[in-house]
Amino acid sequence: MENLRNNIENLKNKVNDCAIQAGRNPDDIKIVAVGKTFPVEVLQEAHLNGINTFGENKVQELVEKMSLMSKDIEWHMIGHLQKNKVKYVAGSVALIHSLDSVELAEEINKAACKKNCIQNVLVQINISEEETKFGIPVLSVYGFLDKVAVLPGIRVKGLMAIGPHTNDVVNIRERFKKMHSLYIDIKQKKLDNIDMDILSMGMSNDFEIAIQEGANMIRIGSAIFGKRSYVAQ
Ligand SMILES: *Cc1c(COP(=O)(O)O)cnc(C)c1O
Repeated sequence: MENLRNNIENLKNKVNDCAIQAGRNPDDIKIVAVGKTFPVEVLQEAHLNGINTFGENKVQELVEKMSLMSKDIEWHMIGHLQKNKVKYVAGSVALIHSLDSVELAEEINKAACKKNCIQNVLVQINISEEETKFGIPVLSVYGFLDKVAVLPGIRVKGLMAIGPHTNDVVNIRERFKKMHSLYIDIKQKKLDNIDMDILSMGMSNDFEIAIQEGANMIRIGSAIFGKRSYVAQ
């Protein structure tokens, strides 16, 4: 798997250069490797090459891979999460990136309380309203945080966004800028039970823009594992 090793090395070099050029510390940017559709053997190879955090967007695939791989790996649920599947991930994953409704928050809270733990989550923000249905609209975010902050089984650690599906760099940058200013805005308010430590944005096609605009967690699939043979949504 010479390719995989090269891909990881190239990615780390790019993240490094990009961070330094943006006046940031490369160590502050965490890479989440998105292995969806790739078999466990390939993820294991990535793990041997220094990847310790993996993200999956489907519950079944996540649970299966989690059970088969080394226990020192950190797992993130990055995809849309249905309420009836919460019980399989709450309390087992380090971070859920996709909290996007009060009902889902309540379900995660219930499952976490039952397991006597606190589930770390990111609030997914809808920064591309015209294209995607998932995520909290920017204007609703404070009302949403108020409702989630009182749930004892949930800890909000930051925000997540998926960039617009376009090659228009100006458009992408504009959304990421908006995301970062929202993140800073919330952080400065120092809300009870709300931490703003993580800003998860940037994928294989736009992680450099995301880093320039303040992301500290990037979710990278194809730049590590190569093209997926089908689109898993
Ligand atoms: C698939 C996926 C990624 C990674 O996408 P690439 O373009 O392959 O880097 C990141 N975030 C989410 C939510 C995804 O579903």
